[in-house]
Amino acid sequence: MIKVIAVNAGSSSIKYKLFEMPEEKVIASGIVERIGHEDAIFKFKGGKEEKKEILPILDHGAGVKLILEALESSGVVSTLKEIAVVGHRVVQGGKYFAKSAYFTKETEDRIEELVPLDPLHAPAHLLGFHAFNDALPEAKAIAVFDTAFHQSMEEEDYLFPIPDEWSEKYDCRRYGAHGTSHQYLSIKGIHDFLNNQKESKIITCHIGSGASLCAIKNGKCVATSMGLTPLGGVMMGTRSGDIDPSVLDYISTCTGKDVHELYEILNRKSGLYGVSGGLSNDTRDIEEAMLKGDKKATRAANLFARRIADYIGQYYVRLGGADLLVFSAGIGENSPIFRKMIIDRVKEALGIELDEEKNESLNRKEGVISTPNSKIMVAIIPTDEELMIARDSYKAWEGTL
Ligand code: ADP
Repeated sequence: MIKVIAVNAGSSSIKYKLFEMPEEKVIASGIVERIGHEDAIFKFKGGKEEKKEILPILDHGAGVKLILEALESSGVVSTLKEIAVVGHRVVQGGKYFAKSAYFTKETEDRIEELVPLDPLHAPAHLLGFHAFNDALPEAKAIAVFDTAFHQSMEEEDYLFPIPDEWSEKYDCRRYGAHGTSHQYLSIKGIHDFLNNQKESKIITCHIGSGASLCAIKNGKCVATSMGLTPLGGVMMGTRSGDIDPSVLDYISTCTGKDVHELYEILNRKSGLYGVSGGLSNDTRDIEEAMLKGDKKATRAANLFARRIADYIGQYYVRLGGADLLVFSAGIGENSPIFRKMIIDRVKEALGIELDEEKNESLNRKEGVISTPNSKIMVAIIPTDEELMIARDSYKAWEGTL
């Protein structure tokens, strides 16, 4: 038995989960938030301890120090040497990584090279890596990429119809995201709902504040909705998803804003938030307002469901059918209203029958929400990206990565 820690380092936060492997048992978890501030937040749960402290945490190194001290003082580990592997989530692996990789100098250089593709996350991942590496020099470190699962896409699924120079010289193409989650959902789906059948066609809907869909054939991704960055694909909490690119030129002419400002607005002020007139990016608020008859909230919810339904239709055709449709992440796991709104928009064409009672009652729990007559089984599967990171960390320890 070994201990591995799954780490998700953002620009001002570090999420962590310590596992005992191969038992896949979570023995500690928490988050450091507002790194760089005097009133940063440190949350820890492990052993008999559960705490939340507000204190100055000025950099990632200080955050990591707090996490490791808490692991020792709570008795979750008797020495830090017990932590054999640190698994780091990395959002963008570009064309270089089709699976997880040891965090070598070469891996680091590649991530550095990919900063222009992911300026928000990539530098933060490297900060997280160095902070853990300094504190646990003897532990192995690996990088688990959000894009890796999507590297099995074929050219016609990942290329954009743009000048070939953009694709070839600048590697401008679809990379997708949420790959670790989609892969987990596919493994769980095949195992728990499709009797481990060899041939399978699955459409996974990871719908949280970020949202993406994936078409998965025999366990391999053939298409996914996010694009060059997580801005593409379906409509999200604050992101527009796919739109006609001429919107940029037109609105730039109308408002005088440049492309960078508009890009920010498409990322942060669009989606549910934008369409609802700034009401909220959170589906809980949108649902509440919709139930009270708010027109903009209703419109935002309708657009959101339509966009996802359209992708489900597209992927049904891309796969030549579907055995299983999976809902996951914040909205997919928790919102019967949105699940029903989406299913209502595809049920006639795809022969799906929703079991309304199960849809209402099965929240955050794995289970089937379609009737036995439904032509496609529909299931909720709570996603677990950290567990996937822990599994690859264990493989790294075994030497089978
Ligand atoms: P992230 O992409 O940040 O990981 P999550 O997958 O945690 O996001 O999803 C968060 C979103 O899930 C919230 O913004 C909200 O829209 C939605 N959500 C969470 N709980 C509920 C709920 N009970 N009902 C409806 N929507 C919910």
